[in-house]
Amino acid sequence: MIKVNNLHKKFKKQHVLKGINTTIEKGEVVVVIGPSGSGKSTFLRCLNLLEVPSKGEVLVEDISITSKDTDINKLREKMGMVFQQFNLFPHMNVLENITLAPIKVKKMSKQESEEIAMNLLKRVGLEDKAYSYPNQLSGGQKQRIAIARALAMSPDVILFDEPTSALDPEMVGEVLEVMKSLASEGMTMIVVTHEMGFAKEVGDRIIFMDEGIIAEEGSPEHIFNNPQNPRTKEFLSKVL
Ligand code: ADP
Ligand code: MG
Repeated sequence: MIKVNNLHKKFKKQHVLKGINTTIEKGEVVVVIGPSGSGKSTFLRCLNLLEVPSKGEVLVEDISITSKDTDINKLREKMGMVFQQFNLFPHMNVLENITLAPIKVKKMSKQESEEIAMNLLKRVGLEDKAYSYPNQLSGGQKQRIAIARALAMSPDVILFDEPTSALDPEMVGEVLEVMKSLASEGMTMIVVTHEMGFAKEVGDRIIFMDEGIIAEEGSPEHIFNNPQNPRTKEFLSKVL
């Protein structure tokens, strides 16, 4: 579904991604772990062109995202993104947050988009919050709304960048539960997280990033029980 060939990203003189190579299959849940500053967010953001790669290639369903013939908006429709800070529109209620892109981008009718939104709200357990505003919601609720908003576009893949890092501990579980259920329904997901329990249980593959490269990748069993790279071992000794 996604193929990454020798992806590099530089900010001015800082070389942040130094040649990332990987392939993400349809239905796969890939968990990206690694120290702060290792380039995890930049990697995700290059996949949907929130950052423009300096070198290399990203193919999404065989289409090169950086080719000048590629319609970047069409591409982004296929790729949902969920951020640490939720990024809900504060002046819109929940229903408006979820239906905005389907109406504007997909030209869906208001009625159809609201039906879909209500079903998604049920799915994330928040049907009673349709007319609430973001500032009336807890962090966990906001993040479940952000996930519903991503799902409203029927994406082929969802990128999660530390979706539970801004949450109070008691709210982490409710968000991970929603993500778990998406994974079990076959959604393709790339998840940057420090939740090692989730990584072990839900990840099909773990990518360990360090200083702008994939230092090691493999099954959760391999990475957590039998890591080969000293950097992986050192990182895991700090977080487990
Ligand atoms: P991680 O998500 O693993 O913590 P990031 O991808 O956010 O790492 O950042 C990797 C490095 O790139 C950091 O040193 C960060 O300061 C730098 N960086 C990230 N985004 C930008 C940007 N837009 N402009 C300049 N430097 C950036
Ligand atoms: Mg980050």
